[in-house]
Amino acid sequence: MCFFDQHRFACGDWKWGHFRQHCNREYRIGETCGMKLIMQTVAVGQKCKLCEKIDTKMRRRTAEVDRISRWQREGSKFRASIEKAMEIIRGLDAEVYELSCERQRRLQGIGSAH
Ligand SMILES: [Zn+2]
Repeated sequence: MCFFDQHRFACGDWKWGHFRQHCNREYRIGETCGMKLIMQTVAVGQKCKLCEKIDTKMRRRTAEVDRISRWQREGSKFRASIEKAMEIIRGLDAEVYELSCERQRRLQGIGSAH
């Protein structure tokens, strides 16, 4: 059981930080035993990369939805633009879904040694 820092992000996600201390089960110089324990928790002021990516895409999505409702008030003039914006939104939805799946996988995988 070797000790590592834990970096906790503003979104509640976390990752392993620096290696801090070997335990007495260390069997080879320079290697950890594979069991990670938390030495200290370091608060990180921002969200993790995945959540930041999701936020960026959600902001873009909100902007597209705003554009569509603005265009819709103009009648049929912007029909092609609306179609295009809806296509962008569908793409963003798929990307956000992928990112949240990745986040879920990471949350499940981080408990194990590697
Ligand atoms: Zn996160």
